[in-house]
Amino acid sequence: MKRRDLLKAASITAGAMAFQPLVTRADTVPSDATQAADVVVVGGGTAGTIAAIQAARAGAKTVLIEHGSQLGGTTTVGGVCFPGLFHVGGKQIISGIGWELVEKAVAIDGGKLPDFSKPPQAHWHHQVLVNPFLYSVLAEEACLEAGVSICYYEFPFSVEQSADGWLLESVGPGTRRRIACKQLIDCTGGADVAGMLGLERLREEETQPGSMLFKVGDAFHPGRERLQQVYVHGADSSNSATRTQATIAGRQTMLKHIRKGLARKRLVQMQPEAAFRESYRIRGETIVTHDDYVSGRRFDDAVCWAFYPVDLHTRSGVRPKPLAEGVLPCVPLRALVPKGSRNILVAGRSVSSDRLANSGLRVQATCMAMGQAAAVTAALAAKQKTTPLDVPFGDIARVLREHGAIVPAQKPHSSVTE
Ligand SMILES: Cc1cc2nc3c(=O)[nH]c(=O)nc-3n(C[C@H](O)[C@H](O)[C@H](O)COP(=O)(O)OP(=O)(O)OC[C@H]3O[C@@H](n4cnc5c(N)ncnc54)[C@H](O)[C@@H]3O)c2cc1C
Repeated sequence: MKRRDLLKAASITAGAMAFQPLVTRADTVPSDATQAADVVVVGGGTAGTIAAIQAARAGAKTVLIEHGSQLGGTTTVGGVCFPGLFHVGGKQIISGIGWELVEKAVAIDGGKLPDFSKPPQAHWHHQVLVNPFLYSVLAEEACLEAGVSICYYEFPFSVEQSADGWLLESVGPGTRRRIACKQLIDCTGGADVAGMLGLERLREEETQPGSMLFKVGDAFHPGRERLQQVYVHGADSSNSATRTQATIAGRQTMLKHIRKGLARKRLVQMQPEAAFRESYRIRGETIVTHDDYVSGRRFDDAVCWAFYPVDLHTRSGVRPKPLAEGVLPCVPLRALVPKGSRNILVAGRSVSSDRLANSGLRVQATCMAMGQAAAVTAALAAKQKTTPLDVPFGDIARVLREHGAIVPAQKPHSSVTE
């Protein structure tokens, strides 16, 4: 390099350095400071994002711990940006905060909602294509507006029971944070926090494959199309080692496909990690069984509806089994409460259910509705200084409806919404 170029390079470096923030250990959260919260949500994915917004909107001081760097989980980071199902037979069965964000994302993006008044030829025609980038930013904005304290790059290192709730230690690079909270909502997708507390979890020998989502070809048009995917058999979201394995395996399989058939097409989109369909579920105060699901059993404490075929992916693919005409399953509050627990709820795909029921319950609209229901219950429990199952169900249903959610009527009702 010539002397003049060297000087130029040096002055650019010096200029850049002048603007660099000074980061020292003093900027980390001191380990002896304990932050107080009413509700801590762990996992800012499909269910957890909605839970955090709802808890804060209901007046609870809320902290959201997410080990990634954006909100939305499988919907955004996983690339499964086509949530469903919010409508059945022309009627809306799931609304609330999830629907609010989905509608907003579609509107800002100049997108289009499916025509819900027309019966779909396939169930997935009524899923909504959302731009995952917009969805995650809108979700973040809604959290900030509601007053949620977001802690990216962190995960719970320890959780202990305290006199009036929990003492949780959350860690991340350069951060060690102690939080004293009244209620916990585990939205990690694999009931990680329930597992840390030794609460019973359910899991099959063989789980459904995960998938790596990507696009080969012309540019990816977010909010207008679905990504391609390859199965990742044995994908297991239980811990960082199994997640690493699944993500590497997914990328390698994708690479093989690119090398094999599509050599002239460019790789234009690849999600940062594999998306997981199944891992641990909790054993709750009740377990939603396949029979409950396909018969549309009406639970007294139903907090939301759920609608999707039984959708079990195996090594040989998937053959969704649609629900019989007129069947509309629901999710009971007791399936969000780990058996024998106090002051903790679980929402999302780790809802207490058997494997076949779970294959239908795990979809995004239902996860969002579960997140909202768990949050209202947790916020009320914190306010009433009690545990979730002791909150009067009428209070939960009332507050959920005040925040736009659809709650199944407690008595059998001829219409699907009220
Ligand atoms: C390939 C694939 C296709 C699918 N197709 C559809 C579809 O067509 N329509 C549909 O509606 N649904 C579909 N689903 C199902 C649906 O997307 C998921 O079941 C749902 O999004 C799960 O939501 P969740 O909130 O339980 O978990 P996630 O959205 O996965 O969120 C979990 C969050 O917790 C965070 N986390 C995990 N552990 C920790 C920890 N210890 N500390 C801090 N943070 C943590 C994660 O980073 C993540 O953000 C599909 C799923 C997959 C994988």
